[in-house]
Formats: sequence, structure tokens, C-alpha cells
Amino acid sequence: MSDDKLVAVKVTDIGNQLPNHVSPSQLSSFDRCSLAYWFSSVAGWREPAGLPQIIGTLVHDVLENFLKIKAENRTKELAWNLLRDTGETVINNNKSWLKEEDVVTLKDKSAESMKGYFDLEDPATLQIDIEDLERPVTAIFESVKLYGRLDRMTRDGIVRITDYKTSKRPAPQYLTDSLRQVMLYAAGLKANGLDVDEVELIYLPGRARVRRPTYKSALDRAIQHLVTTRRKMDSSLEKLTWMANPGNACKSCAFIKACPAKTAKAPTPGSKESEDLLQALNLEKRIRSKSSSETAGMEMLPFVEEGL
Ligand code: SF4
Repeated sequence: MSDDKLVAVKVTDIGNQLPNHVSPSQLSSFDRCSLAYWFSSVAGWREPAGLPQIIGTLVHDVLENFLKIKAENRTKELAWNLLRDTGETVINNNKSWLKEEDVVTLKDKSAESMKGYFDLEDPATLQIDIEDLERPVTAIFESVKLYGRLDRMTRDGIVRITDYKTSKRPAPQYLTDSLRQVMLYAAGLKANGLDVDEVELIYLPGRARVRRPTYKSALDRAIQHLVTTRRKMDSSLEKLTWMANPGNACKSCAFIKACPAKTAKAPTPGSKESEDLLQALNLEKRIRSKSSSETAGMEMLPFVEEGL
């Protein structure tokens, strides 16, 4: 985030906490716009998934299930069947808002990603343990809890973490965030006694691969970023002030009408007016975990994730 265009936004104290762990995607979301992070991860408003996220989830699900199949049976035909079946379910689940042209885009882009996948590697030669697909990674650094799930890890001579991307490969200066996310997984596994040799980003539609060795300073930087970002989150929570970052991300931000940095006269985030406005926009709040130490029936963050 470039500091010169940040806008400090005061929020109402609604008694919420930060999630008890930080995931690599939460870090990216906070870096993109910390006020949007507050709406989503602190206040608990659910951001409806857009078409690119739905395509990304579809392709990730297909690849996960495809690689669970025995290596010698991983044929293109089977992959297309999986894509067709999973894609149909996704389209049905989202039919209330998907337009005809969205469905065409979803089919085209997911197929393009799968074609890119087969151009990049031969899945019949890929040895992978099922437990290394969507593997959870948990570690604690300076009392900050990391939790996330990596896409896949392979151990064929070298241990490699791979992250799939359903977008085109960005310019080199925009790779930092994605590489830091996978380096953080490598640091988390190292803290659990497993050394990862290499991280890899696979940009499926553009058939591009980015690999980096997991050298110490890169792992340390990823850990440092995790810890300093969590400290910034703590400080924002305490001061009831979160930095809005008006820019490109606003175009697809579900909170734009409730964002004082983008909408004149938007009510103070967290106030009753703001909550009513978000509800009127048909946004929903996540179901929160109930802490046994809290009054019975009182909903409290953090949100519970499976495996924690
Ligand atoms: S509209 Fe823009 S500045 Fe406001 S919360 Fe969303 S991303 Fe941040």
C-alpha cells in the first residue's frame, strides 16, 4: 500500500476481536485495504464471491480431486469429466446471479486453465501424497498464529510447495505478494520440522511457472511480514481506526457504499446506520464461534476454521 493515498477511517467499537490466527490470504487482504479487511474479518460481513473467485475455486477443486486419483489413471478425459460435473454444480449453486455471459466466461476460463495445466505438466508422472493436497499449515511466530492451507506439496527428490493461479502471470513487481504467501507456508512447515526446498507459482492460463528456492532471508521476511502485519491489525483495533486504500480494488469491493473513503456521507462503519445499510445491500454476516468463556448465546469472533 502506498501511504500517500491512505485515508484513516474511524469505526464504532462493536466489541469485536481479530481472528485468532492469520492466514496468508488475510495478510494480502489487509495489505490491499485494511478497512475492507475490517468489514470482512473483524465485523464479519461476508463478501459475495465474484466470477474470478468462483472460477479459481472451481479449478482448484477439480485439480485437487484429479490429483487424488492414482497417477496412471489421470487422463485428460477424466479431468474434463470432473470439470464438467463440478462446473455444473457451481453454476447451479450460483444460478440466481450468474448471467448467460458469465456462464460462458466461467466455462471458457476454467477450460483454459485446465488446458494450461496439461501443457505445463504430465499428471501421470506426478507422485503426490493425498495428505499433501490442501494440507493445513499451522505455526506460531512471536505469539502470532499462522493458519492456512497450501494447494499442494510434492516430494519427488526435492520438497516443493505449489500454488495454482487462474490469472495471467503478472509483471515481476507484482509477484512479491504471491511469493511471500508460499514462502510463509514453507516457513510454517519448517517450524514444524519439515524443510521445503522450493516454492512454485503456476499461472495456468498463461502456462507460466515461477520457482524460487526457499532461502533463509526470504523465509525470515515472510515471517516478519506476518508478525508486523498482525501488530498493525492489533493497533488499528485498539485505536478504532483503519486505513482505507481507495484505488482499483474499490471497483469490486462489496463495501463501497458503506465506505467513508469512497462514498460521501457514508455512516461510521460499525454504527447502526452502517450495519443497516450493509444489510439492505443483502450482505450477510458470518456465523461466529461461541467462546465458552463468554456469556451463553453471545456471538464472538474469531470465526472457527476446520482444523484449528
Ligand atoms: S471501497 Fe475501496 S477504500 Fe473502501 S473499503 Fe472497499 S477497497 Fe477499501
